[in-house]
Amino acid sequence: MLNIQEIRKDFPILHRKVNGKALIYFDNAATSQTPQQVIDVIVDYYTNYNANIHRGVHSLSQEATDAYEQARIKIQKHFNAKHSHEIIYTAGTTHGINLVANGFSSLLKKGDEIIVSALEHHSNIVPWQMLCERTGATLKVIPMNEKGELILSEFDGLLNEHTKLVFVNHISNALGTINPIEYIIEKAHKAGAAVLVDGAQSCPHLKPDVQALDVDFYVCSAHKICGPTGVGMLYGKEEWLKKLPPYQGGGEMIAEVSFEKTTYAGLPHKFEAGTPNISGGIAFGAALDYMNNLGFDAIAEYENELLVYATEQLEKIEGVKIYGTAKEKTSVISFNVNDIHPYDIGTILDKMGIAVRTGHHCAQPIMDFYKIPGTIRASFMFYNTKDEIDTFITALKKAVMMLS
Ligand code: PMP
Repeated sequence: MLNIQEIRKDFPILHRKVNGKALIYFDNAATSQTPQQVIDVIVDYYTNYNANIHRGVHSLSQEATDAYEQARIKIQKHFNAKHSHEIIYTAGTTHGINLVANGFSSLLKKGDEIIVSALEHHSNIVPWQMLCERTGATLKVIPMNEKGELILSEFDGLLNEHTKLVFVNHISNALGTINPIEYIIEKAHKAGAAVLVDGAQSCPHLKPDVQALDVDFYVCSAHKICGPTGVGMLYGKEEWLKKLPPYQGGGEMIAEVSFEKTTYAGLPHKFEAGTPNISGGIAFGAALDYMNNLGFDAIAEYENELLVYATEQLEKIEGVKIYGTAKEKTSVISFNVNDIHPYDIGTILDKMGIAVRTGHHCAQPIMDFYKIPGTIRASFMFYNTKDEIDTFITALKKAVMMLS
């Protein structure tokens, strides 16, 4: 069992006030908070061994290179990739998706088909639309039902010999639905298509095993997993990463350069042009250490308790409508109250020190499906408590009274 009060001591930000009130941070699906252990790793890097990597013979450079490459191995082990060179450091999920989409430009042609799901974040829609514009491929969408679940029988019908790629998020950021990616991967592979899974929302709540999933590409961002912003990872099966061309050209990604011809470095460096976010990569590894020390089973169990409790409390408030009631979901609750604009409720909650997200959550097609402009989204992490949920419910009732 997690000792939440002890865990909360690790997060300095949880002890600050906002608008004179103790902060209650329920915007974890947008970004998670950072424990002191991870902050210390970043401070240590800049205090003691800040240097460029992979190119210096001097000690600082070697220390930085070692720490950065050790972190890559931590990431590899965490996701159970077969090789560490299958882990590509990126600037985050969006970067990883664009890297793959760009790579497929040279592999697709007119008449090919790409499937995305109705539950996607804009960053898993727009790059594929751009890819379709470049190649003449067609984008198809797995529809969703009222509960916020993908309709798998429709997915089966979309697959055919023209399907080259399937892109789906593991967990929806707007609704919290856990998608049946095992089924999707199996069916897509049978049709001869590759699969990219957007793990931005799953990585904080569960531990994906990329080999067991047999997924071709998996992407995530460190800032959703108690790490810093501006760094993330792309896992790709070796065979796919070898097939894809480099994304950006520059230093670090080359074998030899002359004006006549340049040859590229092997994996993973082929995709890592320029000086990377070195402290970020090292801190990403530290964030995974932190989460693994807590244990993902314990995290999932506790967060589910928070989800069930908050859902019960919210449902008691008259006029509350929760969007996304899938059986399989994580600790994200998207809701509205009567016809009050979500922004107005969010603003009043902020005055009371409570941070929630309001709007379309970069998932406009989902809002269009429900015919609403947006929702209020409360999303929980393992450091949140039932007491915070009680305070949030009281504040929400007050806000509703003021706005009704
Ligand atoms: N996909 C999903 C499901 C997300 O929740 C997010 C972040 N909100 C992203 C992609 C994009 O992540 P990033 O902004 O870190 O690149």
